[in-house]
Amino acid sequence: MANVICPICHHANHCEAGENKQCWCTEEEFPKKIFDLVPEESLYKHCICKNCLTEFKEKEFLENS
Ligand SMILES: [Zn+2]
Ligand SMILES: [Zn+2]
Repeated sequence: MANVICPICHHANHCEAGENKQCWCTEEEFPKKIFDLVPEESLYKHCICKNCLTEFKEKEFLENS
């Protein structure tokens, strides 16, 4: 599977989505704006890692407060 690298930080994303597995990312909410950071060719193909999601949410929270 090619979907193992986070398109934002280029580290392992630990995606567990597979034939009969569900990944944590399928249950997470991804803010739309996070996809602006993802190169077009990786959009909806490569999992964003939990680190990037958490960091992004924290940043967004700070900016909005
Ligand atoms: Zn990442
Ligand atoms: Zn995933």
